[in-house]
Amino acid sequence: MSDEAIEESEKGQAAEEQAADGPSVPQEGESGPHSGEGHGAPDKSARRTEEEPAPRRAEISNYRIVEHWFHAAAERLELPDDVAAVFRSSYREVQVQVPVRLGDGRLHVFSGYRVQHNGARGPYKGGIRFHPEVDLDEVRALAELMTWKTAIVNIPYGGAKGGVNVDPSKLSAQELEEVTRSFTNKIEKVLGPQRDIPAPDMGTNAQVMAWLMDEFGKLHGHTPACVTGKPIALEGSFGREAATGRGVVQMVREAAREIELEPAGATFVMQGFGNVGAWAARLMQELGARMVGVADASGAIAGKDGIDAEKLADHVREGGRVADFDSGAEQIDHDELVALECDVFIPAALGGMIHSDNADRLRCRMMVEGANSPTTPKADEILNGNGVLIIPDVLANAGGVIVSYFEWVQNLQHLRWTEEEVNERLAKIMRRAFREVSDRARENGSPMRPAAYELGIERVVEAASTRGYI
Ligand code: NAD
Repeated sequence: MSDEAIEESEKGQAAEEQAADGPSVPQEGESGPHSGEGHGAPDKSARRTEEEPAPRRAEISNYRIVEHWFHAAAERLELPDDVAAVFRSSYREVQVQVPVRLGDGRLHVFSGYRVQHNGARGPYKGGIRFHPEVDLDEVRALAELMTWKTAIVNIPYGGAKGGVNVDPSKLSAQELEEVTRSFTNKIEKVLGPQRDIPAPDMGTNAQVMAWLMDEFGKLHGHTPACVTGKPIALEGSFGREAATGRGVVQMVREAAREIELEPAGATFVMQGFGNVGAWAARLMQELGARMVGVADASGAIAGKDGIDAEKLADHVREGGRVADFDSGAEQIDHDELVALECDVFIPAALGGMIHSDNADRLRCRMMVEGANSPTTPKADEILNGNGVLIIPDVLANAGGVIVSYFEWVQNLQHLRWTEEEVNERLAKIMRRAFREVSDRARENGSPMRPAAYELGIERVVEAASTRGYI
């Protein structure tokens, strides 16, 4: 896709202007593609009418971001149109009603989704997200990302994702359990240890996975391998909670060599301080790096002398907000966070947060994508033009699914590895994947993202064609 086309695309120009060049572009307020060879069904998700729609983060949806990268890689690989069409839509999409009576005595109807994008390389695998903005298009995008991610790091899974459009921060523990059990009940037919294995994502955690396993077990008998990211007490894996953050930091270490950066003296900015952000920040600090800015949904803070990631994690664990952290750091706007000078910028919040209006303001040498689809195509182009080394989401945040794979392997054999063993195996796979992607990028003379997609697509195409699917 040409530079102009990307710009047009992000400004939401008419679809027919784009047709010749690539994926059509959603108009403002439109959630995704509902025609042509892609997904056919419009998203008729139920909405909780009392909730205000959140402000748009980027010019295009996560779905369009993933579709853009797939389309570009498929063109470079000269994938025939009919084969590409198979990957532009999902194998199966389940949308269910999740009615739950909440503490206010009223019945609230949420929408739940499980999308299985492609299973050529193994059982479907992907997280479950609880967030008010979850909709079918977002889940589709995240499911497709999982197909490429598991192929890029070469673990034997296909790609899936699930979600419920609920704000877990507004629910009591009992209500959250009700939502989880009701949702599990509605989708259990498409799950199972050899079929589709969920895991935590935004807004869900080990406790939610425990409820999911328990609900699934009521119907199928005790089946710990039906879900990963479980508590240690329920055959969860050591190292799973920290895995995505640990993988992100591993990628910082690998990439640092390419730009002659010494991680021990480096500065970094963390956008998002949940599971991924808080672990990545603490592990960066362990390496000797200094966090000079950090944000969560409540606000952002900056401090040239460094913000203690361990103390901030304790503060957040006790229910505190990043913006209220009493450390001598200065409160800043979310917008100012991206402009802080640092060596490494780590997006670890929502998708689409680095876009055409703020990409030029980033002052980092390297960006390592902890979040899924944090960068729009236009922003990616700007950052590449500014010489920022980008380690893309499909590689950088694969640590979580890699240790989920280890958890599944341990569950299937009912044995347990030590944390050291888990971390060593994780590092080995992440290092191998980094090397394969960076070698290909060097051969292509391209950034790492296109190289990663090419590698992932090639592997999935090979598996699908040897099976006789395509
Ligand atoms: P989480 O819910 O634990 O944390 C999300 C964080 O982002 C919170 O601190 C939240 O306050 C913050 N946030 C939300 N809106 C923000 C905004 N506008 N500005 C700044 N911060 C904001 O979620 P998580 O599990 O850490 O996931 C974060 C990202 O990483 C998501 O994109 C997710 O898909 C991706 N990811 C997670 C995993 C995993 O294992 N948890 C694996 C791969 C990818």
